[in-house]
Formats: sequence, C-alpha cells, structure tokens
Amino acid sequence: MSKIHIKKVRAILTAPAGINLIVVKVETNEPELYGLGCATFAYREKAVACMVEEYLDPLLRGRNVADIEELWQLMNNNAYWRNGPVENNAISGVDMALWDIKGKMARMPIYDLLGGKSRQAAAIYKHAESDTLEGLEERARIFIEQKVRHIRIQLGAFSYGGEAVNLNIPLNSAMGEYYCPDQYVRNTVKMFEYIRKKIGDDVELIHDTHERIPAIQAVQLAKELEQFRLFYLEDILSPEQSEWFKLVRQQCTTPIAMGELFNNPKEWDYLVANRLIDFIRVHVSQIGGLTPARKLAIFCEQFGVRTAWHGPGDLSPVGHMANVHLDLVSRNFGIQEFVGINSILHEVFPGSPTVKDGYIYANENPGLGIDINEELAKKYPCTTKITEWTQTRLPDGSLHTP
Ligand SMILES: [Mg+2]
Repeated sequence: MSKIHIKKVRAILTAPAGINLIVVKVETNEPELYGLGCATFAYREKAVACMVEEYLDPLLRGRNVADIEELWQLMNNNAYWRNGPVENNAISGVDMALWDIKGKMARMPIYDLLGGKSRQAAAIYKHAESDTLEGLEERARIFIEQKVRHIRIQLGAFSYGGEAVNLNIPLNSAMGEYYCPDQYVRNTVKMFEYIRKKIGDDVELIHDTHERIPAIQAVQLAKELEQFRLFYLEDILSPEQSEWFKLVRQQCTTPIAMGELFNNPKEWDYLVANRLIDFIRVHVSQIGGLTPARKLAIFCEQFGVRTAWHGPGDLSPVGHMANVHLDLVSRNFGIQEFVGINSILHEVFPGSPTVKDGYIYANENPGLGIDINEELAKKYPCTTKITEWTQTRLPDGSLHTP
C-alpha cells in the first residue's frame, strides 16, 4: 500500500454559538481523505491558529499519516519547551485529526480502534444554575424530567455562591466579578441542604468550586458537604495548591474531581498514583489530544480513578465527540459533562453527538464520525476580545488568584 501523507494542516475558526472554536483540518494526498481535531482555546484563538499554520503545518507536510505516536512526540518535542496550553491545543487538533483519518482508513469508528465499546452510551451531567434556591430547584427538576440523573448545582454562575450582598469594597477598586469566599461557602452548604431535602437521594449531585476559596476553607467545605453524599466536588483547590488534597483525604470521603486546568503529566501523576482524587477531569485538547488522554485513562484505571472529561461550551463538537469515543471504551469511565450543542452547531458540525434520556451517543461512522460545513462555519466569525469572566475580585478589591 502506498504511503498516505499529510498534504496540509490548517486551522478553521468559527463561533456558531458565540464562543470561539478552533478546529484543525489535516488534509492528505488522497483527495477525499482528511481528518478533524479540536484545538479550542477560546480566549487565545489566533495564537493557536498561528501555531497550527505557521509551525505544525511545515513540520508535518509529507509525513506518514499512519504514525500517530511518532508525530505526537515530534510535535511535543519540536519547540524544545513544551506543555503549554497554546501548544497543547494545537497538537490536539492534529492528533485527533490523525485518529479521525486512521479510523476512516480502517473504516472503523475510533471507539472500535481503541478496543471496542464498554457501553453503548455515556451518562452525562448537566448544569443547574440560579441565584436563588427556588430557581435552582426548578432548573434541577427540568433535567430530572429529561431523565438526567447527574446534576451540577451552582448558586450563581462560576461559583459566586449567589449574588454577592453587602460587600464593603474600598473606594476606587477596579471593576470585576466580585464575590466573597465566606459567603460562598455558607451559601453552598445551605444549597446542598435545601436541594437534597427537596429532590431526594436518587439524583447524583455535583458542585464546582472553581478554585474560589483559600485552601483550608476548601478542606472545611469538603468535610461539611460529606453528609450530602456528592457524586463529586470539583476544583476545590487550584493545581498550584495540589498538596492540600492530602489533608482533604484525611478529613472526609467527599469524592474529589480535578484536572481541567492541567497541561502537564506532572500535575496529575502524583494525585492519581496516591489516590488523592476520584475523578480525572482534564480538558482533552488542553493536554494534547486523544493520544495522551487515552494513556491517562488507562493510567487512572490502575488506581481506581474514574474519568470525567471536561465538556464545557468552549469546546468544539469535534472535541465533545472525542470525549464520547473515550467514554465508550474506557473501563473506568465515570461521567461526561455535556453542556449541549445548539441547532446551529449541529448544522455546522454534521454528525455531532446526540443526547437521549441522560446519555450521550456517538454514531457508527468511521473515525470521529463528525464533519464540518466550512461554508456555513464562515458565517460565524470569531471575535477577539478581552476576557472578563476570569477577572474575579475579592471583597477588598484585590484580584483573586490561585
Ligand atoms: Mg469546572
């Protein structure tokens, strides 16, 4: 068989749902054979596109599409410095596209290439958010009606613990998203009390702290929430404060999920090997794609750690599809976050995963099983603007940092 090689690697930028998405297309010397991968770093989209087109494309042209492991290592080591989010997302775009191509060549979906299905579909969780407890209960009940059995509950978006009240902020403080860690912790405990009482024990509850509180308060929160039997508590500590997970474990059995900010294997190997977390939650493109994520899933399996790949809105449907392929094959699959894909995204990305009764399904097409309508994608251009939501501030006006 003649060698099929990479002809061109390019980035496609589109924002059909108002969020910047970056998809990489790897074209081959076979006219109809190409692959797609997710390289979405929504807040630095031009940097990723530049990395793909100015650096990876010249590096990869003419190379054999079959050698995924070789090409991943080549991309990861080529710039000498490694493991950054721009670089990793760019690598992921190519890596997923190469798996997509391999699947198409083998005429198999990726879940078949990786060993076949362990399950027919992956259980998902949805986000219920409101500034009030009553509103939150209402949101949760909508998901229960839809047969979603795992629900993330948040008072206010991004874990502000509801609307911040009575904050005494110094004069001339900067604009930003103000919140109070103490208020947040108190409101979060009350929230679990209320929701458990109202909706009972049959629903699995998840909560994301978004690293918003000081480390010792994180330990206290995990301990206080133990009584409400969470499915997991997410990001109570920042990656920079991982050592504190030991203390959390000594104090309580609240299941812990961690990882969406991880770039580097050194950020997870200690936590997994010492069983300090229960769910690995990396953003698959952020660690470099399917190749490292598959290795990570198998590593976690050895230590009883389950997967919960990050599945937010700032991820392309191609990335969601990659998550689902991993979910279907992994013995240690835990849960899949899935915020949903609107009808415009379905049009731009034909073959996107579908949801029914609390489960997400892949299709049986070869490769990732998803395509992109590039003409339609062009109608939804990306916009580059200053990211506001990460500019969180504490009651004394200072910027919240991990
Ligand atoms: Mg999160």
